Amino acid sequence: MKITLLGTGDAPSTPMIGCKCPACMDARNGGRSNRSRFSVLIEGDGHVLIDTSPDMRAQLLSANVSTVNGVIWTHPHYDHYAGFGDFYRAQRNVDVYGIKETLDCILDTFYFMSYKRHDITLYEPFSLIGLEFTLLKVTHPPFENAVGVRVSNGDKTVIITGDTNKEIPEESLKMMEDADLLIADALAPTFKLRKHMNAAQAIALGKKLRAKQTVFTHVGHFYGPHDTASKKWPLGYDGMVFEF
Ligand SMILES: [Zn+2]
Ligand SMILES: [Zn+2]
Ligand SMILES: [Zn+2]
Repeated sequence: MKITLLGTGDAPSTPMIGCKCPACMDARNGGRSNRSRFSVLIEGDGHVLIDTSPDMRAQLLSANVSTVNGVIWTHPHYDHYAGFGDFYRAQRNVDVYGIKETLDCILDTFYFMSYKRHDITLYEPFSLIGLEFTLLKVTHPPFENAVGVRVSNGDKTVIITGDTNKEIPEESLKMMEDADLLIADALAPTFKLRKHMNAAQAIALGKKLRAKQTVFTHVGHFYGPHDTASKKWPLGYDGMVFEF
């Protein structure tokens, strides 16, 4: 399987409108601090998107993806679903997957689109593009059931935490153990965050789960320019690829 981090930014992303901090200036000058909003592309026998970033059109064009075999949504925050409208007239009846309350909320917004709805139960694996996916409950107020995603090809495992703070339920942690890659929400280097993890918490999670590799996503401009910050932290960047 191949994993591409299509978008590694937080909700306002980098550069943030109106901000002149060093990360935002590096982003404006074409550096890797330039981040689009959250989305991950999974490739097996086809393409699955984890979340549909508001920047999805540009992301699919730059990754040269012409057809998507499924969309899995982690939670109904604008920065994770708004780009579903970019399928308008480009692809009909896209298969969409998620837990009931997430699908209810997002599909209510996209009443004018065509789609094929698949309600998924937490912790019950399902197959897509020759890979096994499992939705794991995480903690991202105010949502009762935001999810992370476990992806496995039977041999290798990738965990995407989705948006979460460090209080991940025990049942989910068990299913996140020993991953080959942990793609972790780490919005800021040091702040105490209510809805997200910071860098130290994301690193601690990777250690606790014995992940072979941890990479940060949902990265805010607080880290400073990417090339400097990535010497200290395992920051992902838009277009970063992993193959297993
Ligand atoms: Zn900034
Ligand atoms: Zn969120
Ligand atoms: Zn988010």
